[in-house]
Amino acid sequence: MGYRAKIGLEMHCEISETNTKVFSSARNSYSVTPNENIRAIDMAFPGILPVVNKEAVKMAIMASMVLNCQQPKYMYFERKNYYYPDLPKGFQLTQETKPIPVGIYGHVDFECNGKVCRVRINNLHLEEDAASSDHLYDTTVIDYNRAGVPLLELVTDPDLTSADEAVAFLEHMRTVYQYLGISEADSKKGQIRCDVNVSIMDENLDPEEPSNFGTKVEVKNVNSFGGVRDAINYEIKRQTKLKEEGTYDDMPQQTRRWDEESQSTIFMRSKVDAVDYKYFVEPNIPKFKLTDEWLEEIRKSIPELAFDRKNRYMNEYGLSEYDSDILVKEKKISDFFEDTVKLGTDPKEACNWVNGMILSYLNYNMITIDEFYMTPDMLHDLIKLIDDKTISSKQGKEVFAKCLEQQKEPVQIVKDEGMMQITDESSIEIIVDEVLAEQAEAIKTYDPENPKALDYFIGQVMKKTRGKANPSTAYKMMKEKLDNMTK
Ligand code: ADP
Ligand code: MG
Repeated sequence: MGYRAKIGLEMHCEISETNTKVFSSARNSYSVTPNENIRAIDMAFPGILPVVNKEAVKMAIMASMVLNCQQPKYMYFERKNYYYPDLPKGFQLTQETKPIPVGIYGHVDFECNGKVCRVRINNLHLEEDAASSDHLYDTTVIDYNRAGVPLLELVTDPDLTSADEAVAFLEHMRTVYQYLGISEADSKKGQIRCDVNVSIMDENLDPEEPSNFGTKVEVKNVNSFGGVRDAINYEIKRQTKLKEEGTYDDMPQQTRRWDEESQSTIFMRSKVDAVDYKYFVEPNIPKFKLTDEWLEEIRKSIPELAFDRKNRYMNEYGLSEYDSDILVKEKKISDFFEDTVKLGTDPKEACNWVNGMILSYLNYNMITIDEFYMTPDMLHDLIKLIDDKTISSKQGKEVFAKCLEQQKEPVQIVKDEGMMQITDESSIEIIVDEVLAEQAEAIKTYDPENPKALDYFIGQVMKKTRGKANPSTAYKMMKEKLDNMTK
């Protein structure tokens, strides 16, 4: 018998684009220097009150709207009580038991392997991140930079059916957060973390009927999309084996963790040992009203998202769906492309460079567009040099490589290296005549019917000009002269 997987995700994404933290006035900025962005409240000093960051609420509401969720009329925060060295207050401010956090009951459509999938969103809530523990050789130290960073937690219904779908959904959400301008959503900076819930059920039962669902296994704190893929595939395999051995029904609802090293999930605790967080409404933050006017204002400020950009590239610029998809995948790449086009570059040419040479360069060197030396201005100049035939397209590739290698602008390289193509007809004619004067023997065997017969003569022209003669002018001129001479 076959089985069907049911997968639900709890995706945490740090909001990285507010100036300050969610309830504290400390700077909200990624830093590798420990304990740089902290205020007394982040360290849990007594007597200091939280103040809600309006910008963070606005960004959270914006995400809630894009996820087609219902928004609340009033907002509350709650204490989730537990102690951890990196949670010195002894509670996390979050939203859990009140009916509407920043959003409930939405849905998201995304593409996976060429087909459109829909996942329902159970809820979206705003909370604060905890500090982080760094485990050194024989000691553990706490870095409070992360304490109080705004965190959005999105909880899906168990609608996803495979590791591929789960990863495609996460990639889609990363793009949404980037385009909304609320987060870099960079998993390398730990800005995205997921809990993955997996169960399997018999394939011939009704997949929509919750009583048919299998027992949920939660895998906590998976920190990369690759990890999400591997953890889901591992769990499906592990649970399928339990079904086949006949012990699946004895398996308790449980929490496991993903262990990178052994590439397996490891049992942490069963549901009966679940922690009681004793939630209650945070008394120091009065509930506040979200007016219809403010919500409307937020809705109007939602920027163009990847999907709309992609359609615009196809309709306005005539780019293929394939190319448009690649361009919009990372907002910063798409912005680089747009900035180049705004300078007057033909969109198709800009797209060929960005999706071709530039992306290969970034991938090969494992750098981001932020670390890329070339700017949209330089790409614009480079394409212009080729278009107005100052250099050939072959030389264009050379200039591209040298620009990055020497950190010099394309225009400068062409000047420094004397790469300007010879396009002026009278200069080319002088060279053509020189070659003809030297090649009396070869002219005797010239066959005007054979298109390849010209190659040798053009080769001589290129040799004399070190490849700089404009090939089509040289070709045309050489053919005319040879045809006349051998008539
Ligand atoms: P809990 O009360 O244990 O926190 P929830 O019902 O709130 O559980 O769901 C938490 C996550 O688990 C959600 O993402 C949800 O989609 C997912 N989930 C719930 N039931 C299942 C199941 N049977 N199989 C897989 N995932 C599930
Ligand atoms: Mg949570």
